[in-house]
Amino acid sequence: MIETTSTTSTTKLRIALIAHDNKKDDLVEWARYNKPLLEGQTLSATGTTGKLLQDELGLDVYRHRSGPLGGDQQIGARIADGDVDMLVFFWDPLEQQPHDPDVKALLRIAVVWNIPVACNRSSADLMISSPLIGAEYHRVRPDYERPATDR
Ligand code: PGA
Repeated sequence: MIETTSTTSTTKLRIALIAHDNKKDDLVEWARYNKPLLEGQTLSATGTTGKLLQDELGLDVYRHRSGPLGGDQQIGARIADGDVDMLVFFWDPLEQQPHDPDVKALLRIAVVWNIPVACNRSSADLMISSPLIGAEYHRVRPDYERPATDR
């Protein structure tokens, strides 16, 4: 049997939000539509994305550095520390980013720690409307202290 630790989300989810420049309108529109739900959660974002969500929608968002200046890495570190329950990351599949290695690292670390990730509006819609939102949910958190064969 696979032994892991598990973390329990309370009714308030810690959601990290990021959008590349060509995807920022998409994210704001998505957040506008889901504003009542998002207001009940604890939100953080990369710098420019967070400012947009504050200015356009009045959401209470903790802002990290801008993505190209280390914001993606800051969110990755929070995931590794167990401080993020969900990642909404609208990355741009059609344009190179100066911080492409950070983007890859963030997506990787989210998978490492079994964090739900939505990379476009439809996946974000389905994730945020899950019946598990607002319920007590035990997310499996892999235990990397154990030998790989036991995980
Ligand atoms: P930004 O960063 O919200 O500061 O624009 C997003 C990103 O490019 O990672």
